[in-house]
Amino acid sequence: MLKISNYINGSFAEPVSKQYLDNYNPATGTIYSLIPDSDERDVQVAVDAAKNAFSSWSVLPKEERSNHLLKIAQLIEEKIDVLAEAESIDNGKPLWLAKKMDITRAASNFQFFGTAILHFASESHSMENVGINYTLRSPIGIAGCISPWNLPLYLFSWKIAPALAAGNCVVAKSSEITPMTAYLLSEICVEAGLPKGVLNIVHGLGNKVGNAITSHPDIPLISFTGGTQTGKTIAATAAPMFKKLSLELGGKNPNIIFADCDFNAMLETTVRSSFTNQGQICLCGSRIFIEKSIYDKFKNAFVERVKKLKVGNPKDDTSNLGAIVSQQHMKKILSYIELAKQEGGKILCGGNQVILKGECENGWFLEPTVIEGLSHTCRTNQEEIFGPVVTLTPFATEEEALFFANSTPYGLSSTLWTQDISRAHRMADKIKSGIVWINCWLVRDLRTPFGGVKNSGVGREGGWEALKFFTEIKNVCIKY
Ligand code: NDP
Repeated sequence: MLKISNYINGSFAEPVSKQYLDNYNPATGTIYSLIPDSDERDVQVAVDAAKNAFSSWSVLPKEERSNHLLKIAQLIEEKIDVLAEAESIDNGKPLWLAKKMDITRAASNFQFFGTAILHFASESHSMENVGINYTLRSPIGIAGCISPWNLPLYLFSWKIAPALAAGNCVVAKSSEITPMTAYLLSEICVEAGLPKGVLNIVHGLGNKVGNAITSHPDIPLISFTGGTQTGKTIAATAAPMFKKLSLELGGKNPNIIFADCDFNAMLETTVRSSFTNQGQICLCGSRIFIEKSIYDKFKNAFVERVKKLKVGNPKDDTSNLGAIVSQQHMKKILSYIELAKQEGGKILCGGNQVILKGECENGWFLEPTVIEGLSHTCRTNQEEIFGPVVTLTPFATEEEALFFANSTPYGLSSTLWTQDISRAHRMADKIKSGIVWINCWLVRDLRTPFGGVKNSGVGREGGWEALKFFTEIKNVCIKY
């Protein structure tokens, strides 16, 4: 059975404990590889390696750092088939999706930040006849990067690439549930000739490896993407140590549909924004609000489309949805569907586990589920389910739609469907989320700030925001 290794100081290493954890293929429900059960001792070795590497990496000309990142991007592109297959097996997502989205975007992240750093400049503030201030932006040191299981390599690279581009060294942990592509990335880094110790990947559990990274005194900045509860724990550990923190957390995103929208385009995209990646994208629109006058039309058309979605073997090109990432997560989603029923919700379609035939007979699959008849305040509509489950709620006025949309503790993204340009801008201004999509969903420009408000996070990543986060700022004032 394949044993994943840690990647520390440019070499592959066993965990100090010599213990391993089981890694499951969610589509078959079987163990297919072993993950290092690392702990604070492995993190310490990684920190020591990163500290050693920092003195040379941080002063390497940015053109050379850029070349390293571009080489990694090129190798990811060359190995897209292998990486996509690994991502699909590890996570349960359809292979076509891993290829089209996850791995392609992981390569783009390295490309983008590998070139962005060449154009990154700092500000100056002239004081007319008095003098001038200029701002220095320097690498900080060792960045701790912790990422979740839903878009494994994509989100891992989203952090690592800007951290390295800015001249930091990294100690990173991918989710213990989906470690495979992070491991394959370490092989790519060796092939790309990345200097040893610049990137270190320590595999293992959140409460061991993750906690050792966030509490380590020599790691002054933490970039974390994951659940809101974990974000709270990390903030509680890091804040008293005055660490720089970027927290990209959960969402309960509204998808608001007005009667004047382009119905067909909206329907097409709403199916995707509800169920892509089995609904396990932090940006999925899980609460759908529909203007009353088209509620029935939308409901009928949407449910008809959703019933046609195929839940199947992730290897199969015709599968729209693959497996849920773990048995535990599948049970959590099913428990929310039960809760929705108790709260008075009516299941319009789905609601059950899917038992497939053949090699996937023991896999963890769920029907895409649509629920109506719930109040906007019930737990089903307030808590993040993070699965293929959406609720439908009618609204009467723009004000009511806005009120419903803003009624959760979350504020990551939102989607608006309307042809009325004034209303679109008015709503975009008033909606409490870090990202607003108008007449589209998941359209990404890597230059734009990415992140949430309220319980969806602190700080922004993407574009200059990421390079600003991963650099320390110093103002220098000169009097004429
Ligand atoms: P978790 O918060 O459970 O885990 C995220 C990462 O943190 C994992 O690597 C995990 O390790 C690690 N971790 C767990 N506990 C600790 C700890 N005490 N200290 C440090 N690290 C720890 O999230 P999930 O992996 O379940 O991901 C799903 C969540 O991520 C959803 O809430 C989703 O909304 C959110 N998300 C947010 C995004 C955004 O951009 N805002 C994007 C994508 C997802 P381990 O796996 O070993 O537990």
